[in-house]
Amino acid sequence: MKLHSFHQLAGMIDEKWGNMLIDNHDRTINYLRLAVTDRCNLRCNYCMPSEGIDFAKKDHLFTMDELGFLSEIMVGLGINKIRITGGEPFIRKDLMVLLRKLSQLEGLDDISITTNATLIAPYIEELKVLGIRNINVSLDAVDKATFERITRRDQYDIVYTNLNRLIAEGFNVRINFIALENQNTQDIIPILKRMQHYPVSIRFLEEMPFNGGSKAFSTITWDYKKILAHILTEFPEVIQLESPQTSTSINYRIKGHTSTFGLIPSFSRTFCGTCNRLRISATGDVITCLYGKPRLNLREILRGENGEEKIKEHIQKAIGSRSKTGFEEQRKYMGVFQNSMTSIGG
Ligand code: SAM
Repeated sequence: MKLHSFHQLAGMIDEKWGNMLIDNHDRTINYLRLAVTDRCNLRCNYCMPSEGIDFAKKDHLFTMDELGFLSEIMVGLGINKIRITGGEPFIRKDLMVLLRKLSQLEGLDDISITTNATLIAPYIEELKVLGIRNINVSLDAVDKATFERITRRDQYDIVYTNLNRLIAEGFNVRINFIALENQNTQDIIPILKRMQHYPVSIRFLEEMPFNGGSKAFSTITWDYKKILAHILTEFPEVIQLESPQTSTSINYRIKGHTSTFGLIPSFSRTFCGTCNRLRISATGDVITCLYGKPRLNLREILRGENGEEKIKEHIQKAIGSRSKTGFEEQRKYMGVFQNSMTSIGG
């Protein structure tokens, strides 16, 4: 049997598939979730402790130029969708520098943002000009007191004002609502009612154990089946919608509603078989599965000599040894549940 060096193999892969990242389970990886900061102006209790986490030092974060360069490299490798996340991405006052660059990148078909919608208002006009339409707004309550209890901050009015504006301005808005036992499940039906006349999708996610160590758990009560059963008690007539194969969301429409809703089994992990994602944290950690440990850090590599070539090699290598499922990854890396989602980016 002939043995090939890593460089030869990478060349062969390039010749066969062109610019594509294909993992060791034959899954094409074309979707990058890129965190631009780990800082957030909210303190959602399922995400981090009230005092926050040990946030990264400024020089451990990429500059906007570095994030732009990194994105260009990733698009060169076959990434055609980038979701900007955080922490809260709009905490970075120069975020638009990156978004302007991304909107010019050939081969990048989809730029999306996940935000808590507290700081987005001054940027809405330019987002429209840049053609960035896909905004996910995290919002776990209809009731103001519930919102403030979960987020530990007084930002309810501004979030709803900005959400309404995004909808009115024609953005493709999806609301991310985490179903939290004993906290907000009484708001599941009200949020569906509140949004029924708007062209938005409300996506109910299962809680995951990435809360910076504030609460450890290995099972959940409110899984996607229970959320659906609960919705059906109020709205028995729902139609299941077609979804793209790589979608993590099982989507439905309630009869008579303009909005749709989705269920995301983020803890039950029913969708790993079609996973097309890669995550890069704000400090440069490469995460090939939410339930694992970072595979490597790109920061010094990007800042060093031949950064582009080295990053391509490292990413291809990481993609070539992914776990098949989040359960397999979890078994390999016991103890990762000390992480906070504000570092990972959701
Ligand atoms: N600050 C932005 C926001 O609020 O959308 C982006 C970052 S936030 C970490 C990204 C997503 O992760 C949000 O939708 C949030 O609800 C979700 N998230 C955070 N902690 C989670 C947890 N423990 N389980 C499930 N989802 C979580």
